[in-house]
Amino acid sequence: MAQNIIKHVDSAGPLARKVRPGEALIAINGKPIRDVLDYKFHAYDAKLLLELRTPEGKLRLVKVRKGEGEDLGLDFETYLMDRPRSCANRCVFCFIDQNPPGMRKSIYFKDDDARLSFLMGCYITLTNLTEREIQRIIDLRISPVNVSVHATDPDLRREMLGNPRAGEALNIMRRFAAAGITMNCQIVCCPGYNDGAALLQTMADLKALHPAVKSVSVVPVGLTCHRAGLPALTAFTPESAAETIDAVTQFGNKCVEELGTRLVFCSDELYLTAGRVLPPDDFYEAHIQLENGVGMLRLLEAEFETALKYADAPDGKPFSLATGAAAAPFLEKLLFSAKEKYATLNGKVFSVANDFFGRSVTVAGLVTGRDLISQLKGQDLGARLLISADMLRREEVDFLDDVTLAEASAALGVPIYPVENDGGALCDAMFGILPPIPAPDERAEDTEYNKYN
Ligand code: SF4
Repeated sequence: MAQNIIKHVDSAGPLARKVRPGEALIAINGKPIRDVLDYKFHAYDAKLLLELRTPEGKLRLVKVRKGEGEDLGLDFETYLMDRPRSCANRCVFCFIDQNPPGMRKSIYFKDDDARLSFLMGCYITLTNLTEREIQRIIDLRISPVNVSVHATDPDLRREMLGNPRAGEALNIMRRFAAAGITMNCQIVCCPGYNDGAALLQTMADLKALHPAVKSVSVVPVGLTCHRAGLPALTAFTPESAAETIDAVTQFGNKCVEELGTRLVFCSDELYLTAGRVLPPDDFYEAHIQLENGVGMLRLLEAEFETALKYADAPDGKPFSLATGAAAAPFLEKLLFSAKEKYATLNGKVFSVANDFFGRSVTVAGLVTGRDLISQLKGQDLGARLLISADMLRREEVDFLDDVTLAEASAALGVPIYPVENDGGALCDAMFGILPPIPAPDERAEDTEYNKYN
């Protein structure tokens, strides 16, 4: 199926009654449209000449005038208007390789698509970019690009990513920087591979690309119990996590002095592993790396405390909160501070151990429906159970193991409310102002995310 076929034309948009579903968009102002990036870039201007191919195979031209930057109101057969690009790597730490067998097919898809980096903030490794694509990012000024760097030493990066092209990343990033393209970077830190001296080198190389490199996160490698046949990796211990935090903090302190920004941040998970107190909220500056779990808990706390100041009395109904083992003490602390203000607040926190991926996986976002049910069944969960919305697959109503919210709710005999990662929403939900429970038929087979997944 051609990916540039128009599926829907907005009846209130500038192309209403000018373009029909079923036609293919070939070019705009003479520029070929190969994918959604071409489309978004070339559709920006106020005066456009569209070249279309009808379902009968005839070419026709359509002139349109609209506001500069105004959306043309077209939906295409696929979100990317192209096939999604999968990765060409065999990373030693790949989480997808560590999934148990038998999960839905989309879970095993390894995307590494520059277009998704720009459109949806996904991180890319740069290893599958052709020269033409690199040049297109520069020409179309696609920015920011989110880069999974891991290591800048070419040999080490080749080894970690299992790809002979992986050593070219720093040169590509230099070209992006020279073209004014900004980058956010991620380092998945694997003890014995890219920590210690290698991490210092990587941070220094990225610092040299500031201000093009805007932020860097250091995230601990996640190891599940499904690693048979994969390279041996070591998990962080409290000691090695503390060493890495110290090295990054020291480096960040220098960056603050020299650049006016900390630049490199450890994820919350690293602090929790080390048993360290999380830095204060203002340490995280603009919170650019929230998606990588950097400063997320501190922000949640700050938002929660603000909401608590203005909260009305709770509804008095007992409730429970379920989260991963890492964040459970943190949520207990928030609940405790809320109870200090309102003694009638009747809630408790349940820490759910991860038996699906292995107990070393402690983040809330990887708690599965089966673990939730098996560990909470028979517990007094009160009138409602609050979970992090991160436990549900994006835009869907089921957990990673395909257990639906409705099934979990029926099995536990309590309504389950997915709460967004927002301290205000969490405070509201504790006090009885509840988010909607997504209906089963809201399972989004056709969301933008699923169109390429
Ligand atoms: S880039 Fe590496 S970590 Fe990401 S999906 Fe591919 S192999 Fe896995």
